Amino acid sequence: MNLFNYIDIFYSLIIKYMEKKLITIGLIGGMSWESTVTYYQVINETVKDRLGGLHSAKILLYSVDFAEIEHFQSEGRWTECASILGKAAYRLEQAGADFIVICTNTMHRVAKQVANCIDIPLLHIAEATANVLNAEKVSKVLLLGTKYTMQQDFYKQKLLEAGIDVVVPNNTGIAFVNGVIYDELCRGIISDVSRKKMVDLCLNIKQKNDIQGVILGCTEIGLLLKQEDLPACKVFDTTLIHARRAALLSL
Ligand code: GLU
Repeated sequence: MNLFNYIDIFYSLIIKYMEKKLITIGLIGGMSWESTVTYYQVINETVKDRLGGLHSAKILLYSVDFAEIEHFQSEGRWTECASILGKAAYRLEQAGADFIVICTNTMHRVAKQVANCIDIPLLHIAEATANVLNAEKVSKVLLLGTKYTMQQDFYKQKLLEAGIDVVVPNNTGIAFVNGVIYDELCRGIISDVSRKKMVDLCLNIKQKNDIQGVILGCTEIGLLLKQEDLPACKVFDTTLIHARRAALLSL
């Protein structure tokens, strides 16, 4: 056997070792699918950056019908939402997922119920976000998201528990952001007018409150608003944070 054979064997052993190390991510997506695309891309890019070569993430995706979910949300039927996502998580676990990622902020409203349906961990989006904010020593933020995320406690509570003060827009602002999410972004519509309005909303709130950053607490907002659109504020895109964290956990 010559030197090249040995190198070959050594290399394939390393690859095998790395493959063994890669565990499988179970994504519950489709809420909306527009942002699940970002998860798929960012997770794979992160794994590729870390491992190089032809490496990509091991992913199982259970994609729901968002119309069904949105219908239950709007009627406040969270138990039905929990049941759909709980079944999805269970199926992903049965199929071999090692941990679960719910690819939406809003549906963390039922994260506890979903976690109760499985024996594998669930990577909570607000906890992942709070960790990044703490690491960057950001302690007061504006939270943008659906009306459920901005008005109800399930999400803000996680941030408060991590020592982060949360500001949300007034009712007009909440209605505007919520409308952009459901009427535009979840339907694949990216509007310059809405971007400009959202930037103005953030700047207005920054002027009145002492916020150090803005959480894009809806997985579609990053499709509209990027850090470069809002240089005056530190932007925390929960889709990127959640997806990168999932990728790193899978290594
Ligand atoms: N993807 C959005 C979020 O992160 C909104 C869609 C949903 O209601 O799940 O909250």
